[in-house]
Amino acid sequence: MAELTLKQVRKSFGALEVIKGVDLEVASGEFVVFVGPSGCGKSTLLRIIAGLEDTTSGTLTIGGMDVTYAEPSERGIAMVFQSYALYPHMTVAENIGFGLSLARRPKAEIAAKVAATAETLQLTQLLERKPKALSGGQRQRVAIGRAIIRDPKVFLFDEPLSNLDASLRAQMRLEISDLHARLKSTMIYVTHDQVEAMTMADKIVVLNGGVVEQIGSPMELYRNPATPFVAGFIGSPK
Ligand code: ADP
Ligand code: MG
Repeated sequence: MAELTLKQVRKSFGALEVIKGVDLEVASGEFVVFVGPSGCGKSTLLRIIAGLEDTTSGTLTIGGMDVTYAEPSERGIAMVFQSYALYPHMTVAENIGFGLSLARRPKAEIAAKVAATAETLQLTQLLERKPKALSGGQRQRVAIGRAIIRDPKVFLFDEPLSNLDASLRAQMRLEISDLHARLKSTMIYVTHDQVEAMTMADKIVVLNGGVVEQIGSPMELYRNPATPFVAGFIGSPK
């Protein structure tokens, strides 16, 4: 069964239609990458899945349930943003556990889950530090930790590596792929970077001007690009 489906999803901001009838099925455990040029609607589509934007029309299901009108907190998703959005005055442990604190979970449960999450992300030695005492890669891991601790059905990443330098980006690509292999959760990852798309994805969704140009595995897109746009985009990595 599909973990996530979008049927004819459209989104307009005033007179400007930015998502123009997107159909998509994401299988449970799949790593799907949305790729396309700046302004093509990647973030908007991700925010629609997260429930941070409503749709103008169309429907959305997660785990077989219609969530078109569901609140973000009811969707079983967690989002990792490009700007790490960590709380500067809180320690790593407090940042990771913040969502559970808000939900008023018992302190012992929060401590145990923070410890397990830190272990998964190799942050155990850094739990008492403040974000300003962390490297870019470590901050990104904390941001991922805040998502993992909620045990979401679907992870959403919006250009999580674009603030990192090239060598760290390469390392974090491997870390996120490794995390996906271990957690086996469904992940949707937005990037404008062809290399990230080609190396990380089970399935790539190529977006252009709010329209899906092609959906397929990296190899399918490379071998059989459906349009000149896909050929140009996939064929000319930066
Ligand atoms: P991407 O993430 O692919 O760069 P976005 O989804 O951020 O693209 O934006 C797609 C289009 O929607 C752009 O033209 C952008 O200016 C427009 N847009 C995004 N959010 C809003 C908003 N809140 N109000 C008006 N226009 C918006
Ligand atoms: Mg964006």
